[in-house]
Amino acid sequence: MSGQWQEQVSLKPYNTFGIDVKARYFTQAHNDEDVRRALAQAAAQGVPVLVIGGGSNLLLTADVQALVLRMASSGLRIVSDDGQRVVVEAEAGEPWHPFVEWSLAQGLAGLENLSLIPGTVGAAPMQNIGAYGVEIKDVFVGLTALDRQTGALREFDLEECQFAYRDSVFKRHPGRWLILRVRFALSRVLHAHLDYGPVRQRLSEQGISNPTAQNVSDAICSIRREKLPDPVELGNAGSFFKNPVVAGVLADKIRVQHPGLVAYPQADGQFKLAAGWLIEQAGWKGHREGDAGVHRLQSLVLVNYGHATGLQLHQLAQKIQADILERFGVTLEMEPNLY
Ligand SMILES: Cc1cc2nc3c(=O)[nH]c(=O)nc-3n(C[C@H](O)[C@H](O)[C@H](O)COP(=O)(O)OP(=O)(O)OC[C@H]3O[C@@H](n4cnc5c(N)ncnc54)[C@H](O)[C@@H]3O)c2cc1C
Repeated sequence: MSGQWQEQVSLKPYNTFGIDVKARYFTQAHNDEDVRRALAQAAAQGVPVLVIGGGSNLLLTADVQALVLRMASSGLRIVSDDGQRVVVEAEAGEPWHPFVEWSLAQGLAGLENLSLIPGTVGAAPMQNIGAYGVEIKDVFVGLTALDRQTGALREFDLEECQFAYRDSVFKRHPGRWLILRVRFALSRVLHAHLDYGPVRQRLSEQGISNPTAQNVSDAICSIRREKLPDPVELGNAGSFFKNPVVAGVLADKIRVQHPGLVAYPQADGQFKLAAGWLIEQAGWKGHREGDAGVHRLQSLVLVNYGHATGLQLHQLAQKIQADILERFGVTLEMEPNLY
């Protein structure tokens, strides 16, 4: 069947939770032609297609009865350079952190706060990846995608992507567009964002008062290595829940009972609550059910201690969601994509 496709392939190496489910069919795309061929072949045979990158934002709850198409395209290039503003383009299959390292090696700033995020360039716009006060929307110029309904190429500019907190038009219409390559505007001058989390403090501990983009990246990498479990050692998908945004009335109500509530005021008068804080207050930190658990240091990270199934992790997530709703009246939304 289908020359290039493998059958009944374990997806364990292709998702950072390390969940051992099978793909009915599996293939990799190294260029646009591979993508088109795989989609055409799948359409001709009536086989659904699931596109993946690094599998670092997936929760696979059953065998995937589809063709899993893994983006493995490569290529990094400078598109324009006016001496200050440099537009770079990366193919979807490029791994994200090496792309950040490449940009730093070119002397370009802009991606340093997004260092060490797992996954691929092509998946980054899906949830408008963000960390330490920066999101890709802040440096985004445009992307080229394939419309899977029409087979036509489509260019998206910043506005058309409808980026929001861990959200985009692509996330809201899963499976509609396949992202082929993404463009970012970087700068020869660092506009440092140091006030989120302990970045400034880490730099000053190192005696750095006037950091380079590389210094900022190094500091963020060291903070992340301390804070987050490495999926190679302990299966996880990073933050499992989004930080909920709630009305001021609800934030005030919670604060009466919990004066230590971590809440950030938003421009529209609402408050963004730290989901990890809520989960920790509810006593879930370090909780374990079989091989599915809540990380012992990071309440926001669900982990697979070895042989957890996606279903077990999902059930644990649902228990946490129900408990947080009952205790605080707050709905927690999952961040990883559930299949
Ligand atoms: C330890 C750890 C830390 C993390 N930290 C952060 C963080 O700080 N900030 C953050 O925002 N995220 C974080 N994440 C989440 C994750 O790394 C990002 O969401 C990343 O962008 C996912 O990329 P991926 O290639 O692994 O996507 P996958 O998990 O393979 O796919 C994610 C979704 O995108 C779709 N998709 C993938 N590629 C394409 C494509 N080319 N075109 C269209 N759709 C596509 C898939 O169908 C799926 O729905 C973290 C994850 C881990 C494990």
